[in-house]
Amino acid sequence: MESCIFCRIAAGGTATPLLYEDEEAVAFRDIQPQAPVHLLVVPRRHVASLNEAADERFLGKLLAAARKAAANAGLEQYRVVVNTGAEAGQSVFHLHLHVLGGRVMAWPPG
Ligand code: AMP
Repeated sequence: MESCIFCRIAAGGTATPLLYEDEEAVAFRDIQPQAPVHLLVVPRRHVASLNEAADERFLGKLLAAARKAAANAGLEQYRVVVNTGAEAGQSVFHLHLHVLGGRVMAWPPG
């Protein structure tokens, strides 16, 4: 989708370096990192949120991509977050997994 920034990044149409990519997904650094390492794992196909992702195999592949992207970034311990809906903090309506690491995480999140 041309108007979607994550579609454009996933298609390689921006200057954002891709740190990981496979047939389903790409990973790149969050522009406003909330941890020393903060990656976003984004499917190549446009899906607005977790609620619109009907394909469970695809969801499994995204989670595996998050694990691989974390490993590529040198993370053994990390948090994966999927904000779903504006009330939960979702601001970009293209499904994405946050991978955060490199510091001790607090719980519960705000
Ligand atoms: P969320 O609030 O869960 O929808 O997360 C969206 C994330 O995308 C935020 O952490 C933003 O900092 C990040 N973001 C927005 N635009 C870009 C961009 N062009 N490149 C990298 N990260 C971005």
